[in-house]
Amino acid sequence: MSRKPLIAGNWKMNGVLIDACNLAAGIAAACRGVSDRDVLLAPPFTVLSEVAHTIGDAPIILAGQNVCWEGKGAFTGEISPVMLRDAGATATLVGHSERRQIFGETDELINRRLKGALDFGLLAILCIGETLYQREKSQTFAVLEEQIRKGLADIAADRMGRVAIAYEPVWAIGTGKTASNDQAQEAHAFIRTLLADLFEKDIAAQTRILYGGSVKPTTIDELMAQPDIDGALVGGAALDVDTFGRIIHFTS
Ligand code: PGA
Repeated sequence: MSRKPLIAGNWKMNGVLIDACNLAAGIAAACRGVSDRDVLLAPPFTVLSEVAHTIGDAPIILAGQNVCWEGKGAFTGEISPVMLRDAGATATLVGHSERRQIFGETDELINRRLKGALDFGLLAILCIGETLYQREKSQTFAVLEEQIRKGLADIAADRMGRVAIAYEPVWAIGTGKTASNDQAQEAHAFIRTLLADLFEKDIAAQTRILYGGSVKPTTIDELMAQPDIDGALVGGAALDVDTFGRIIHFTS
């Protein structure tokens, strides 16, 4: 089954309004005429509406970097799926390793966020990945399995069309160390087999699995040539128009 590639840019906590609009305008121009791949941007919440305005009808999916499960209410510091939609987003990340590591988000909490995103019609990218310690202790597959099983707990198969997985080894995020093509492919194949176990083969075959962790223009082509890598979640390299533009236009 062919899966449409998805190149996602996670701006993290970078960019005040003027920077965000300039970056968004440049990326919108780079996406003109692109239809054989999806491009997604996850700017900070504060600039979402303006970024939505700036990109206009360019073929870009706008996403939050995280989301609460309730539409509204007493959740100080959170952003609801309704608010994301109101600001022009149709997607969100959940479970990014910085949320897990710095803010202590658990698989259970991430599962609630994922369900909330789906309940309100958003596309969700569930981020998973092992730390360096876990890889060195040969725990990679066990960690990925636990994050997937708990992260996707009670998600009905018919909602999986709106879920993508991002495999992001924590040791490769923001470090300049990319997983080798073989390491990435091995993890992606493992995740796809697990999805076939949890749901069914067709669902596993249609789910997009992105690689994240120091993706650059020089590494994207080979990553995208791997059979189970369907896209990239890009952090640092998504903050520069030319660099991200080159990643969007990967050629494998
Ligand atoms: P990086 O970040 O590309 O800067 O390593 C990726 C991510 O955290 O999503």
